[in-house]
Amino acid sequence: MPRSRPRRAPRHRLAALVALLPLAVLGTSAAPAEAATAAWPGPVPVVHHVDTTDPVVFITLDDGWNHDPAAARLLLDRRVPASLFLLPGAYAYDSGYFRTLLDHGRSRVENHTVDHPDLTALDAAGQKAQICGAREAHLAEFGDGPRLLRPPYGTYDATTRITARACGAKAVVTWTHDMTTWGGRTPPTPALAPGDIVLLHLDETVEQDLRRVLDAADAAGLRPAPLRDYVTE
Ligand SMILES: [Zn+2]
Repeated sequence: MPRSRPRRAPRHRLAALVALLPLAVLGTSAAPAEAATAAWPGPVPVVHHVDTTDPVVFITLDDGWNHDPAAARLLLDRRVPASLFLLPGAYAYDSGYFRTLLDHGRSRVENHTVDHPDLTALDAAGQKAQICGAREAHLAEFGDGPRLLRPPYGTYDATTRITARACGAKAVVTWTHDMTTWGGRTPPTPALAPGDIVLLHLDETVEQDLRRVLDAADAAGLRPAPLRDYVTE
């Protein structure tokens, strides 16, 4: 029986076409589907760790419900370039907290969707509403569009990666270490390595969690760096 390798190629092409199908939903062009898919860039990469030899670590803060002044002081005093994956609802009642971080510090606002759904439970139109909707809200409030998408719960699918591109993101970002204190339980502190992405949350323990991460970075000889700048287009 002949090797099936040559005959598998059409299946791969078919798989590629299937992966691109949501584009037909997302596309606004009236051009024929074939032309639209040919011109469309591919899905964004998924990043859980940055491949770098620079002595850097990336601090990311999710959601944004607790506007802790002590945490803001720490971010500003230490010049921490944090990636803030904010929900629009978490700044709707007080955007000033984040404006200060953006205007006087090195932090950037990134995309964490509008309503924090499990994106894999949504179709292409639903994912677009969540991801592009958050981008538009951030742009309107802060004048700066997000370039990174952190999907809620770290769950994503092929549609998420394509939709992220359509909504201005250059990567889907998960994390290397979750160092959030969950339910009063402080997780063990890992030995941080260059390129690690640390997940924290803007909740009640954010200041102490942030100090723990900064101490761990110091211990490892790493400095916090801007994740957006380290993720290539
Ligand atoms: Zn979240």
